[in-house]
Amino acid sequence: MTETVEAPTTVKPINHWIAGSPYAGRSGRSGPVFNPATGRQTGEVDFASAEEVDRAVQAAKAAFPAWRALSLAKRAELLFAVRELVHERREEIAKLLTAEHGKVLSDAMGEVTRGLEVIEFCCGIPHLLKGGMSEQASTGVDVYSIRQPLGVVAGITPFNFPAMVPMWMWAPALACGNTFVLKPSEKDPSASVYTAQLLKEAGVPDGVFNVVHGDKVAVDAVLEHPDIAAVSFVGSTPIARYVYETATARGKRCQALGGAKNHMVVLPDADIDMAADAAVSAAYGSAGERCMAISLVVAVGDVADPLIDAIRARIPNVKVGDGMDPASEMGPLVTREHRDKVASYLEDGGGTVLVDGRESCPDEGFFLAPSLIDGLQPGMRAYDDEIFGPVLGVTRVATYDEAVRLVNENPYGNGTAIFTRDGGVARRFQFEAQAGMVGVNVPIPVPVAYYSFGGWKASLFGDRHIYGPEGIDFYTRTKVVTSRWPDPATSKVDLGFPQTR
Ligand code: NAD
Repeated sequence: MTETVEAPTTVKPINHWIAGSPYAGRSGRSGPVFNPATGRQTGEVDFASAEEVDRAVQAAKAAFPAWRALSLAKRAELLFAVRELVHERREEIAKLLTAEHGKVLSDAMGEVTRGLEVIEFCCGIPHLLKGGMSEQASTGVDVYSIRQPLGVVAGITPFNFPAMVPMWMWAPALACGNTFVLKPSEKDPSASVYTAQLLKEAGVPDGVFNVVHGDKVAVDAVLEHPDIAAVSFVGSTPIARYVYETATARGKRCQALGGAKNHMVVLPDADIDMAADAAVSAAYGSAGERCMAISLVVAVGDVADPLIDAIRARIPNVKVGDGMDPASEMGPLVTREHRDKVASYLEDGGGTVLVDGRESCPDEGFFLAPSLIDGLQPGMRAYDDEIFGPVLGVTRVATYDEAVRLVNENPYGNGTAIFTRDGGVARRFQFEAQAGMVGVNVPIPVPVAYYSFGGWKASLFGDRHIYGPEGIDFYTRTKVVTSRWPDPATSKVDLGFPQTR
């Protein structure tokens, strides 16, 4: 990408997408969408009422019988077409992300690429849905298992990955034969509507994929709807807990991924430059608005001072600016409110502020430059909270055991990483760390598409991680068939409980 793209200046209406067409909301409720780089409103998104959510669910329900009956070969063919189209339009999608989320274009392209990997995984759906078969389980009796879709399923997604996280959900859900209702974040909703257009263009039948925008009213309508069989949620921990408890109380299958506080442990033998590069990239990339961002460095022993020096030396080189400018490496935060909340940790979050990002950021827009706080401890606000912004904390400990204890005592368990040259200690860390994803000299260990993504503890409610093999499990239920083809020679009346013979 070589040229700077102008952000839109007019306020565009952003509608729902129901049964293959845009649907202008009639609830009388809507919300503003901003360009975070300028602070100006660029869109007004419809907020769905319960009736509008029902309209989307009915469209998905009507589309389900034909979609689930489509052969695996045809479904795979459609997924390949979707893959081609998303790949072809990845820059258009990325520009929508930058315009509403604020992340820099290169990062937005990375987001689309990681989502594409999940779509590519789903192109192998004929293989992924294979069941097991036991011939002659009993005399003349064969037993086999099959996987069937659940029906209408819903996804509720956060602002920070407006294209990728929905792809984590709709790609496997559709591949498994379900139809889908997406409730994306109201802060950056345009990528979801664009995705709906692409799916239609690729040949996915109307009603298979629907989008309803909105806030708690729309989410509650999804959670209450009797025709929705399962809900996937990604967002903050309090809402994840609420969604999980509400959905499961109504008999729905639910996976709800929550927030994080990812600790990066750096041992004294680590390569300081490599660890500093990793910490700066993982803390400030996407302005820290990643659930796998590193928000805390746990410096073990005498590594702390040289590591902090190396991180401080790198911070002034991070180019903060409009994400549409190819020179920018870090964009603004998503809203003014969120920016101000993140900045408040520099005021009274605890510890010693070494670099204050309020001092060196653009005036307009929702910017906060990279910030660094030393001396954080459990009990301090900046240690305990998921800040979700470009504020990196450092906690100093004396030993590896203290570092692991901090990781394991933290209520969150999304990701964690260790930086060391000692393979034995790294292996011990992998064994002991209580988190769903562990990086060894890798700061953001987001699993590739053929594994599954998910945390432990307050980072995940439910028992299935998202995408990959566990995603296929989540969006299907198994059926076991026991069959005997008529053999008159063995037929008889037998009132006893079936036994193998
Ligand atoms: P959020 O919880 O505020 O919103 C997520 C979704 O829930 C949105 O669609 C929103 O409209 C809806 N929502 C918000 N408030 C609600 C309420 N009171 N009742 C019902 N629904 C409500 O999260 P966010 O700010 O959009 O995203 C950031 C959070 O998401 C961070 O905590 C981050 O760690 C987390 N996240 C987690 C993962 C993961 O994989 N674990 C991935 C990305 C983001």
